[in-house]
Amino acid sequence: MKDFEYNTFPSRVIFGSGSVQKLPAEIRRINTARPLLLSTPRGSHLAVQLSEDLRKSFIDVAGIFSNAKEHTPTSVTEEATVVLTSKAADCVISIGGGSVIGLAKAISIRTGVPHISIPTTYSGSEMTPILGETHDGKKTTRADPKVLPVAVIYDPDLTASLPAAICSTSGVNAIAHAVEGLYASNTNPIISMLALEGIRSLADSLPGIVEDSGSKAPREKALYGAWLCGTVLGNSAMGLHHKLCHVLGGSFSLPHAETHTILLPHTLSYDAPAIPEQMVKLAEILPESNGDALQGLEALLQKLQVPRALKSVGMKESDIDKAANMATSNQYPNPRGLESKWIREVIRRAWAGETAV
Ligand code: NAD
Repeated sequence: MKDFEYNTFPSRVIFGSGSVQKLPAEIRRINTARPLLLSTPRGSHLAVQLSEDLRKSFIDVAGIFSNAKEHTPTSVTEEATVVLTSKAADCVISIGGGSVIGLAKAISIRTGVPHISIPTTYSGSEMTPILGETHDGKKTTRADPKVLPVAVIYDPDLTASLPAAICSTSGVNAIAHAVEGLYASNTNPIISMLALEGIRSLADSLPGIVEDSGSKAPREKALYGAWLCGTVLGNSAMGLHHKLCHVLGGSFSLPHAETHTILLPHTLSYDAPAIPEQMVKLAEILPESNGDALQGLEALLQKLQVPRALKSVGMKESDIDKAANMATSNQYPNPRGLESKWIREVIRRAWAGETAV
């Protein structure tokens, strides 16, 4: 066994069907009284329902801000911070996916108000000390444990309205966190265990959501897997796959989970020759792999009917060179060296929707 160091961030997790009912107790536990609820426009129904429920539990809801956007634009954070101050709110509650969690993190780090998160996608952001923000079309990232929520409530019932198509791409986004955790430069046996259990849970459950979107058990298992994958993301140094997605999402405004989903077979295929042991472990847990992790991933993606080409989610062919240059402009740990011409080829294949080789 290789030597390792083990660090994880402290986190309080409340998991289970109906667990959102424990939110009033959590708000009081952290000595706050006037929460501002945050959501995206599409997830505003969740915030409205939550506000009604909290009022029934005698929580003095300060208001709802429903304008969270993907990639956390600083202009939206400034708008929300004005609302927080004008309504004298003393904590923020994020209900929704990574977009709203990003907004809550950005408000919390700027103002010091605590954040309780109720994730309803599988992005994993609630488990990471990372905040990515966009300003003037450029995405910058900072890592600071102060951006972590003080508590996370995973209630699978609240994911019932998440369309199966979003479950699929968001679930593959979570799998990508765990895949990169397996070969991260700072990985360790505990993180590997979490990563494999997270991938297994999602690979087992996501096809069940696509087959029967109303079925509860797979949604429960998928959210559990997403939590584990988020923990891996928060505690591992990410490599080429996340770097590329960061560049494509932040600088070319491509949708986050879809971009992860399209790129994963290509980035894994690129790194595969340098990670033979991890490829064997992945093949063991991916159904229908026949001993080949890439085949197992391909079978899963086909079952999930996810988008497969960056051109289908808005990337222009003329941006391939720029993206390749940006992704290789800084060196960072990755199992296989970053060779510009091959990274360009990874992006080109993903752009065209070709099969990974
Ligand atoms: P998202 O938060 O934009 O959610 C996707 C869509 O699902 C949105 O339209 C949202 O309104 C909708 N939705 C969410 N929950 C719903 C529900 N219960 N019912 C119906 N609709 C629902 O997308 P995402 O993929 O979760 O997050 C992407 C963002 O998170 C990006 O900005 C990305 O950079 C960030 N992110 C950050 C980290 C980190 O560690 N900092 C990790 C992962 C993602």
